[in-house]
Amino acid sequence: MKSLHKVLTAAGLLLALPAHALTIEFDYTYDTRGFFTDLTTGTPMTERRALLEQAASFYSGFTDSLTAITPQAGDSWSVQITHPSLGGPLITLSNIDIAADTLRIYVGGSNSAPGVLGFANTGFNLTASGSDTFIDAVTTRGQENTTGSTATDYGVWGGMIWFNAANDWYFGSDTSGLTAGHPDFLTTATHELGHILGYGEADSWLAQIDNGYFTGAASVAAYGSAVPLDQYGSHWANDTMSTYQGVAQETLMDPSTTPGTRELPTLLDYAAFKDIGWQVNVTTVPEPDTYALLLTGLALIGLSARRRTA
Ligand SMILES: [Zn+2]
Repeated sequence: MKSLHKVLTAAGLLLALPAHALTIEFDYTYDTRGFFTDLTTGTPMTERRALLEQAASFYSGFTDSLTAITPQAGDSWSVQITHPSLGGPLITLSNIDIAADTLRIYVGGSNSAPGVLGFANTGFNLTASGSDTFIDAVTTRGQENTTGSTATDYGVWGGMIWFNAANDWYFGSDTSGLTAGHPDFLTTATHELGHILGYGEADSWLAQIDNGYFTGAASVAAYGSAVPLDQYGSHWANDTMSTYQGVAQETLMDPSTTPGTRELPTLLDYAAFKDIGWQVNVTTVPEPDTYALLLTGLALIGLSARRRTA
């Protein structure tokens, strides 16, 4: 039975083609406060930029068929984003080209009140005019049923992420130098990318919330029941647990991360993206007969892992 199921699943994946791996492009045009660029020399800060690429790699197993946004004569579009280095004023982006299966994300950082790590958005006041195909590319990237209370899919042009430079960040690709009190930049970058990919934001996310619980089928399978959310419905409830590579870990998309710890996308986080409408590599989502076992182990580990010192 099990092997037959796997064969059928693989066949189903093949039928879903053509779908292409997701590319996330980072744009440093508005990195004007020196978070990713040495302002005195103009040199890119390659270690930090490499961490953004590492964060994006956690989503490279997503496949979809996102239409390119390429304005032709008679087409135009615009969107306003929060300035990624100032955190406040809006910038208007007009008629930018975005390749197929690609999201463009404008990044930067500046000092703000301590405690906040960063934030992301996909912009405001999106406008599009021209051919129907072009408008569809801008607003849904060619995805079906992306808006309203029964939405099942998601398509977006990209977005912005601002990082709070006031934090004493840990900028390492592995955790060997990660010590107490230092927020892990890779964790925050990966978390913020998750919001741009629709977590907590997409209509297809909102459509699956019932009384403070997320009811998407893959998430329920991964968690064992409807998943409790935070008070805003934009994260899992604080301290929600799942597994990363078979080891119990607090979810990436709960609202906070203890400084000095790293959180990467767990099975439950990936399940949410599947529920939002991304075609998530099937090996990252638990099958029904394995999640019960994982949850059993998780409960035991969870008991001995109470932490969060501040
Ligand atoms: Zn968040």
